[in-house]
Amino acid sequence: MNELDLRAVVLLLGAIGVLTAVVLLHLWRQNRSLLEAAAWWGAGPLSIFAGTVLLGLRGLIGAPVSIVLGNGFILAGAIAMYLGSCRFWNQPLPRWLWVWLALVALLALSTVWPHYPLRLTIVPGLMAVVQLAHWRLIWRHDRHSFGGRFLIGWLAFCTLALAFRVATAHLERVDADLFTPSIWQNIYLASYAFSLLGETIGLVLLGQQRLHAHIRELATQDSLTGIPTRTAFWEAAVHELQRQQRTVKPAALLMLDLDHFKRINDTYGHQTGDAVLRDFGQRLKRVLRATDRLGRYGGEEFIALLPETPVTEALAIAERIRTFPASDGIPPYTVSIGLTAIPPTAASSSMDSRLESAIGRADAALYQAKALGRDQTVQAALSPA
Ligand code: GH3
Ligand code: MG
Ligand code: MG
Repeated sequence: MNELDLRAVVLLLGAIGVLTAVVLLHLWRQNRSLLEAAAWWGAGPLSIFAGTVLLGLRGLIGAPVSIVLGNGFILAGAIAMYLGSCRFWNQPLPRWLWVWLALVALLALSTVWPHYPLRLTIVPGLMAVVQLAHWRLIWRHDRHSFGGRFLIGWLAFCTLALAFRVATAHLERVDADLFTPSIWQNIYLASYAFSLLGETIGLVLLGQQRLHAHIRELATQDSLTGIPTRTAFWEAAVHELQRQQRTVKPAALLMLDLDHFKRINDTYGHQTGDAVLRDFGQRLKRVLRATDRLGRYGGEEFIALLPETPVTEALAIAERIRTFPASDGIPPYTVSIGLTAIPPTAASSSMDSRLESAIGRADAALYQAKALGRDQTVQAALSPA
């Protein structure tokens, strides 16, 4: 163990920092608005790299510069990564607290630098505080995703490694130095090089998860109303119909179309038209239950599948939607609704075709509602078989 070249280990840690910074900064450049945090995450390992170079030059440059600036950069790097995670979850940056902490550390270091065990208490001690704060932040915001769990485990390991060094600090000689080999120092430096690598891998995972969720949202949610797209509705509705095979409970389907919507656009302009669509989307979300499946079917047409809902109950829900008052500042508008029951079936017909025929029935009822003067609900007759 004592043959480890500690200077090489420290410089290796710096090299890992540069590599991971490149990855994180690339992630940031590609998704500036969505992943502002990655700029902080990337700045962290770069700062750590600068710090390790200064530490690695111990003996070649003055000890105060190497110790104070080197450790300062490393501490600043860990803080930058923590602040990046604050940004990631839109938490206020406790900037002054950390600047203050760093200043205190520098001040303390510059006065005690010849005393090695004291330095070993201050630097890894402060690092442990930062890592623990980072651990706590992730524990509070993301305990469930793979990236979150990975970081929680990893930062706990980092904090323990740092605490281990603080606990073993008193075993070192007062005039020893960073590169004085000791079993404790070997374990500490080796685990620290690993911990930076693991931490940045975890942060890349977090960023990648956020991007994935965003892309998923774009694909499954209508950007104007926040309601699932037609494709997402279809998938969910087919799933509900499959579930119905087991529950054997009646379901209902509603097709909803805003009346004379073209006129609303022509009278008030498209922006007001958009506001009406958003308002109607909100109304649907309020009236329908969390278990109901909703979709924006077309421009001003919406669709809803109500599982485990007898048709009389579905009629009452449709009426509640129709008569729900428009929000303040929204011009009055009305809606026509076509409704059909979807009885449970023993036949093993495909769910897609069952859904298609239910939509056909509801659509026909909707046309009837329009023909009868709009602003009303019409129930479709169930065709025999
Ligand atoms: P009806 O009562 O028969 O349904 O008449 P309508 O005017 O509502 O129906 P029509 O199909 O003639 O017109 C629908 C209009 O909805 C035309 C289209 O410009 C408008 N529209 C579709 N999508 C949007 C949108 O996202 N925003 C806005 N502002 N208008 C939209
Ligand atoms: Mg319409
Ligand atoms: Mg229409």
